[in-house]
Amino acid sequence: MSRLTDISYVKGILAKHGFTFSKALGQNFLVNPSVCPKMAEMCGGSENVGVIEIGPGAGVLTSELAKIAYKVVAVELDKRLLPVLEETLSEHDNVKVINGDAMKMDFNKLIQEEFNGGETVICANLPYYITSPVIMRILEEKLPIDSLTVMVQKEAAERICAMPGTRQSGAISAAVHYYAEPEMLFRVSAGSFLPAPKVDSEVIKLDILKKPPVEVTDEKMFFKVVKAAFMQRRKTAANSLSAGLGMPKANINSLLEECGINLSARAENLTMQEFAKIANSLCNG
Ligand code: SAM
Repeated sequence: MSRLTDISYVKGILAKHGFTFSKALGQNFLVNPSVCPKMAEMCGGSENVGVIEIGPGAGVLTSELAKIAYKVVAVELDKRLLPVLEETLSEHDNVKVINGDAMKMDFNKLIQEEFNGGETVICANLPYYITSPVIMRILEEKLPIDSLTVMVQKEAAERICAMPGTRQSGAISAAVHYYAEPEMLFRVSAGSFLPAPKVDSEVIKLDILKKPPVEVTDEKMFFKVVKAAFMQRRKTAANSLSAGLGMPKANINSLLEECGINLSARAENLTMQEFAKIANSLCNG
C-alpha cells in the first residue's frame, strides 16, 4: 500500500513543506488506497505506452502510474507542490514533473519531446473547476493519444457520458461523442479525498475514435449548432437555435422540417446524426 494514502503521512509531508490546500485549484487529494492502483491499471499505460498526468498533487496517482508505465510526465500548476513531489516521487526514476497549466500546455509538443511521439495516454484526477474545458481542449487538439482516463465529479461524468438524444445529455455529451467513446469505470466516494468534497466522483475513460461517428461538412458549424441548441435547454431546440444562431424562427423551422426533425423536440432529444444534419444543411444552404 502506498504511503501516500496514509493520512497522517500525507498531512505530515504537506505540513513539512508548509503546504495548505487551495480550494480554488480544486485540491482534493486521494487517500483511498484502492483507487489509484485501479485507475493506473485501467488507463492503458504500459512498458510501451507512456502516461501524461494532469495535476499530480502529492503524487499518489503518479506513483501508481510509474509502476505500470515506462514513463510518466506530470503537469502541475501549483509551484508549492514541486518540493513535495520531489520527495514523494524520489524512488521513481521514470517520472518527470513539469510546472505548467493544463489549460495552456502544448500537449502535442510535450508528446513529441517527452515520448518521441510514441503511444501515449492521459490519466488524471482532474481539478473540478476545469473539468470540461480541459477535456474539450485535449479532444479538440486531436492529440495522438489513445485514451483519456479521468476522475471527475459524478454529475459531470453523467453528463459527459450521456448519449446524445437522451435526457441527461448536454452540449458536452455531443462534443465528447464526436471525438471519443466514453465509458463509466467506477464510482469514488467523497470520503476518499483529503479534504472531502461535497459530492462523489466517478472515473471515466474516453477512448479516442479514429474517425467521428457522423460526417460533418464543417466541424465549427457542428459545434456551433450543438452549443446553440443547448443554450436554452428548457425551450424547444427550434427556439434555442433561432436565438443562439441569430436566425429567424421561420427559417429554423423549415430547416428542421427538411431534416425530418420534430419542431417540438428539445436539444436533449437530438441525436448526433440530427445535429450533423442541421449543421450540414446550414453549410449547404
Ligand atoms: N492527483 C492528485 C490526487 O489524486 O490526489 C491531486 C488531484 S487534485 C483533484 C487536482 C490537482 O490539479 C491539484 O494538484 C492542483 O494543484 C492541480 N491543478 C489545478 N489546476 C491545474 C491546472 N490548470 N493545470 C495543472 N494542474 C492543475
